[in-house]
Amino acid sequence: MDITCRSCGHADITEIGPLPPALSFAGTPLDEWLPGGKLYVCRTCHLYFRHPIPSEDKLNSLYAAAHADAWSYESKQRADWRIVREHIDASHQPSRVVDIGCYDGAFLTGLDAQHERLGIEVNETAARAAASRGISIVGKRASDIGTLARKVDYITAFDVVEHLPDPLAFLRSAGSVLSSDGAIFIATGSTDARSWRLMQHRYWYCANPEHLSFVNEAWARYAADAAGLHARVVARYAHDADAGLTQRASQFSRNLLAKLAPGFAAWMRLRGIGDKPADTPEQAAYPPYWASARDHILLEFTLPE
Ligand SMILES: [Zn+2]
Repeated sequence: MDITCRSCGHADITEIGPLPPALSFAGTPLDEWLPGGKLYVCRTCHLYFRHPIPSEDKLNSLYAAAHADAWSYESKQRADWRIVREHIDASHQPSRVVDIGCYDGAFLTGLDAQHERLGIEVNETAARAAASRGISIVGKRASDIGTLARKVDYITAFDVVEHLPDPLAFLRSAGSVLSSDGAIFIATGSTDARSWRLMQHRYWYCANPEHLSFVNEAWARYAADAAGLHARVVARYAHDADAGLTQRASQFSRNLLAKLAPGFAAWMRLRGIGDKPADTPEQAAYPPYWASARDHILLEFTLPE
């Protein structure tokens, strides 16, 4: 195979399988199908990645066209935010905190007011909303973190690195501006999750066309080594922690059916049977949602003592 890892550059790559084409991006309908490419894993750095991916210009225009409210969350739903806030506020001293992809500032405004709160956000409507809530916007793209002139105590990236072509490059940039006793928190999907290992390339998380890169605990160890940092797993959690038993059971059984009898699952959806009817074969074959699965990981990276 003539593919090399776009992060570490090595050629020991395994193909997992095709990813479905998409008709919407960041919650916004597209005029034509966006090809899904395939899912691969790098046996050197352990990154799972979509390939090929749209050009940087194409990605920028897709995000620019996205609805401003695509990623609005109520903070009580989020286990990752709660854990990181507790960690930052527990230091009992004013810290300089940068949230990557801060959106409207919802995570930062929940922090104790003594902290200096900075945000990086590409969506202009969201960035204006964050600024109106007292957040200093210091950049647009995740890579802008490396351009900050002063060191930072905490860098947070919730649901960010899966959107980046190269999460290790981001980690290196973040590490370059981290203060000696600071920490980088990365929250994202983990390919180690049992649900993901069951569904492989047919998993909901990697079907999402905005998601390009997927990490796991082995990646965290490799990346920490490569970036001169120390890695720790803080939590494994479900993105939708509020899902009730009925919702969990329904998501589980729909995925199991798609795994064991994909043709039958698609046939049912095309005939409008069940609660996720489909109009086209592509829609019918699209992986079922499974946000109640415990498939997310919260990683902490720190500088060595
Ligand atoms: Zn690699």
